Amino acid sequence: MSIPAQSSGTPDTELDDPEDRLRRFATIWSRAIFPSTATSLTRAEFEQHLLPLARGLSDILHARPFDAAPAAEVGAALVAAHCTDPDALSSTLGVVDSYLVLYCGSNGVTPLPTEDSRARCARIQHALASGFTRALRERTLSEQEAIARSALTARSDAERALHATEARFRAVFKDAAIGIADLDGNVLEVNDTLTRMFGGLEHHVRSHKVNEWVHPEDSPYVWKYYEELVRGEREHYRVEKPYYRNDGTVLWTNLTVSLLRDAEGKPQYQLALMEDTTERRLLNLRLRYEATHDALTGLPNRTLFFERLEKALAADDSSRFGLCYLDLDGFKAINDSLGHASGDRLLVEVADRLQSCATAPGEMVARLGGDEFVALTTGPDTETEVAELACRILGVLGTPVRLDGRELTVRGSIGVVEGPAGERNAAEVLRSADITMYRAKSAGGNRFELADDEADARAITRHGLTTALPAALERGEFFIEYQPLVHLDDGTVHGAEALVRWCHPQHGVLGPDRFIPLAEHTGLIVPLGRWVLEESVRQANFWQERHTDGGPLRINVNLSPTQLHHPRLVAETVDVLERSGLEPGALCLEVTESALIGADEDLLKPLRQLAEMGVDIALDDFGTGYSNLANLRRLPVSVLKLDRSFTLGMQQHPADPVDLKIVEGIVSLAHSLDLAVTVEGVETGAQAEQLRKLGCDTAQGWYYARPGAPDRIHSLLLADAV
Ligand code: C2E
Ligand code: MG
Ligand code: MG
Repeated sequence: MSIPAQSSGTPDTELDDPEDRLRRFATIWSRAIFPSTATSLTRAEFEQHLLPLARGLSDILHARPFDAAPAAEVGAALVAAHCTDPDALSSTLGVVDSYLVLYCGSNGVTPLPTEDSRARCARIQHALASGFTRALRERTLSEQEAIARSALTARSDAERALHATEARFRAVFKDAAIGIADLDGNVLEVNDTLTRMFGGLEHHVRSHKVNEWVHPEDSPYVWKYYEELVRGEREHYRVEKPYYRNDGTVLWTNLTVSLLRDAEGKPQYQLALMEDTTERRLLNLRLRYEATHDALTGLPNRTLFFERLEKALAADDSSRFGLCYLDLDGFKAINDSLGHASGDRLLVEVADRLQSCATAPGEMVARLGGDEFVALTTGPDTETEVAELACRILGVLGTPVRLDGRELTVRGSIGVVEGPAGERNAAEVLRSADITMYRAKSAGGNRFELADDEADARAITRHGLTTALPAALERGEFFIEYQPLVHLDDGTVHGAEALVRWCHPQHGVLGPDRFIPLAEHTGLIVPLGRWVLEESVRQANFWQERHTDGGPLRINVNLSPTQLHHPRLVAETVDVLERSGLEPGALCLEVTESALIGADEDLLKPLRQLAEMGVDIALDDFGTGYSNLANLRRLPVSVLKLDRSFTLGMQQHPADPVDLKIVEGIVSLAHSLDLAVTVEGVETGAQAEQLRKLGCDTAQGWYYARPGAPDRIHSLLLADAV
């Protein structure tokens, strides 16, 4: 207990006024206990607050009869003023003991005897202390009660909140499977849903550590994330992960793993939340299967094939690919004659057979649609493998298919493309294969052809040329060059062959080999051929009018097979001749040998009519079509044009004796049938001399003149004259 200053037994002599003395007592009291109060009052305010209490003590000291009990209220008042510290009580008792009688013993009315006042002071202290203690206990009790009450309220509040959270938690994770494991992977807790998900045996789930659930289809990241999480470098991860159930079947999950830390933030547990995605995945797989497979044959379809091809083409530099593009020959005829149901069964059979050809790893067969199939092979050795694959395919197609009690022979044409990965894209490869397949088809089918860039480029322009042909004729993009035909015995010009050209706006001048087959294919050859006939007959007529000397110049015009079949061939030719005024004997129509092989009377009739009118018919390219010489007798032809291949044999020195014998034989046979013989492709004087000796009548070739503009015939005639 500390008693503040002024501990002398004498109060200040100047303080005669009892009120001043009382205030002085309050000051001393307040100085003694202020440091140990918990009041929010200032020191001066606190002193003011003690003043009535001091007055109360003074009154008790002087009261008659003396009763110390009211001092208890002063004690209680101290507690009420937050002077609850035990030091506050002892300091108060000390102040009362030392100063109450000293400053308040004489209140100016009835001075107390000293003994009496000391006794009274002691009792006042006692009452004050008990009042203080009681008040303090009551206050503590009520405080505790308030704490307890609020604790109670708080707990139920918290419980209510917790309950709500839990309900929400349960609602959110009702069907979720949850498991907790330590950082070594030991499974500590799993809920029922998780156990059910894994097949129903809790032991099965708990007997493995988390990091033992490895599956071959795990994503490459899953174990990396796992390691990071257990090291505390990652708070959570989410992956799609497969597991084995206890019966060995596969469970697919959406797995979310979170790291749980302790109060200090140290990694402690891992919490796994799993969602069973097996069904959804199966559905997705099924949808994907349907989207990537052909419904009829079950083979991969165009979509899947493109995916694989793109993958093969994107592979690293050492790998190659080989592609067989198959189109069945004559499938449309089978479909039309036997019906679509039979056609479908045939396709299924073909698909099965194809599948049996491509069973090695890296090989696949797909149906692109209709009767088009592809077989793909990948790896380092596709150069040899792809041809073998194509042979195998043609081989399996070779066995007849039994359909509705008949045996059908299925054949196909295959375009083969092979090459290193990384050079072309899938569309380019497929286009090349398609073009090559058409080449195989037009070469007769039932075969495979290898793609070659030049052929591809030609085919690509072929398509463009075909579509541009009709407009080209209207725009007058065609023109004719004339190549002289020369008498071998005297070198005079006998006539000229009209050879058509196309002055294409982009590709420049194109030879007939580039567009005549296209014009034949589309039927445009009929109007084009009519134009060539008109134009060259007009030209021949012009020559005849200008150059009457040296005999009439003749004109040779080529006829394509399609023109031969045209019903108005005779009528139109007659019309053209009549309008130009050229006599029929000045016109020679050249028909290629192959068009007349096996021709029946119907086909020969128009030619016979023209021949009877005096028009010459020449059998062009003779020697390339294996025509039976004995047959020549029944054809309405008057000229044989020996193909350039015969003259080629005469280019070497000495000339091939066999060729010479053949030509000699043909010439004598032709002459015995009253046919004139013209030779094509004479390029040297030596050839010309040989052919003359062999008895050929006329010749044509670069030795005399290349095909050229019509006026060049004049200079040739002039040269002859010289
Ligand atoms: P063809 O009737 O056999 O024509 C002869 C071809 O041989 C011409 O080729 C000619 O330029 C070429 N030739 C001539 N002399 C020589 C020579 O000494 N050496 C070599 N290497 N070649 C020579 P071109 O003009 O390319 O005509 C090719 C084919 O196109 C013709 O063969 C003919 O079948 C067809 N053709 C040309 N014009 C027409 C036409 O107006 N209508 C039809 N339907 N076909 C035509
Ligand atoms: Mg010709
Ligand atoms: Mg020819």
